[in-house]
This record gives sequence, structure tokens and C-alpha cells, in this order.
Amino acid sequence: MLKLIVANWKMNPATPREARELYLKTKQAALKQRSARVIICPPAIFIGCLNHKTSSRLSLGVQDISVHRNTGAFTGAISAAQASYSEAEYAIIGHSERRAAGDEEKIINTKVKLALAAKLNVILCVGEKSRDGEGGYLQELHEQLTSALAGVPNNFYKKLVIAYEPVWAVGKGASGADTPAEFLHHKLFIQKVLSKTVGAAAAKAVPVLYGGSVDHKNAESFLNEGQAGGLLVGRASLRADHFKQIIYAAR
Ligand code: PEP
Repeated sequence: MLKLIVANWKMNPATPREARELYLKTKQAALKQRSARVIICPPAIFIGCLNHKTSSRLSLGVQDISVHRNTGAFTGAISAAQASYSEAEYAIIGHSERRAAGDEEKIINTKVKLALAAKLNVILCVGEKSRDGEGGYLQELHEQLTSALAGVPNNFYKKLVIAYEPVWAVGKGASGADTPAEFLHHKLFIQKVLSKTVGAAAAKAVPVLYGGSVDHKNAESFLNEGQAGGLLVGRASLRADHFKQIIYAAR
């Protein structure tokens, strides 16, 4: 199975010109790497500026979608259908920065269903805020998964990707990355939770990515030792030289 290497550019870069440059450099690396599909999630406003042509190695995604289904008076929002009519093929949903901005479980569940109905692939982010020694945080993970996927028909699981991103490992204020061994433990836990709904074989087919302080030095260990289905990368995706090495780590 192709490794999914997702670039979450967040609210970067500053200009369309910089976005095009970063896109082109990332594209060069992506097209050379047969073992990966690279998914760039730029600010939605830049999607139309990239001259993107869909290929099996390189796709675009949005970083979020609106909780509202239809067009209407929702200032600043972008619907799943609108994202899908642009070149986006994927939608990140439930990112910890969106959860911190107020996306509760019910909202995330609605967004997952709207994205799937609009034929987008969903990259659902889950992850605990902090980790207690007794494994109590696994309950938090369990709840995030079951509530986000409540009512999602089984045949949609083939359009689902889970990104396990412990919140303490994400972004500038992170205390560092998880370990590949711990990630593997959590990947198996996630697939076990999914298997209760869709059965073991379908759950195993859902790619589980690792995200949180991935860089060009640790990427390979998460993909190999950690058996990650791919990586979700924030800061390091903005450095073309570093992100190229992360893409090549999927070899
Ligand atoms: C993220 O934004 O999902 C992320 C993992 O960020 P970073 O790689 O910067 O920790």
C-alpha cells in the first residue's frame, strides 16, 4: 500500500507566489517517489493558484470544511461540496487546532459525514491531550473515534484515513515526537476500535498515519519501525528540502 505523506501548511505561506514555489518543489519530489502518495493541504484560498493536475502521486486537500451542508449566510466558511468542486480530494477533519477552536465531537461527526457525502477522502485526526501512565487516555481516543464515525456507513471506510496525533506532540509548543514503538501500539489500538464496527480486514485496510513533530530525521523510523501508513507533517512540510527527505523516507 502507498504511504500517505500529508503536508498541512496551516496558514502558510504568506503569498500565492511562495505557495506555488513550495508546491512545485514538493511536486518534483512526489513524482519521483513511487511508494508514496503526497497530499498537500494548503490554505484553501491558494488551491486555485497552484495549477494542480491530479495524479496518483500528488493530491490536494483542505484543512477543514464547514459544518453546514448547503450554501448560505456562513461568512468565511467553505462547504465540503465547494472543496470537492475545487481540486481537493481530501479533507482534514478534527485537527487539534480546530478542536481547540471549538470543534466538538458532534461537529466533527457532521463534518466527516458531509465530506464523505461530497466524495472527499477524510483524514480524521485523533489524539490525546496528555498521557497518563495507566492508559486512561485510551478512553479519550476511543471516544474520539467512535463519536466521529457514528453513523458512517461501512462502505465509506475505504475513503477514511486516521491520523494519530497526540496533541502534546503537535506544533511549535510540542514537547517532542512520540516514539515509533508507542505509535505502533496506538495504531493497533485504533484498528481494534474500528474493527468492532467494520470487522478486522476492513479496519486493517484503513491507513493510520502518525503526526506530531515529524521531521526529516525521525520520518523513516515512524514508517518502518512504527509501521505507519504515512505521516501528517506540519512545520517540516514548509521546508521543501526537509519535506523532500520525508517523502523519500517512504521508499
Ligand atoms: C500538524 O499540524 O498536524 C502537525 C503534526 O504539526 P507539526 O508537524 O508541526 O508538529
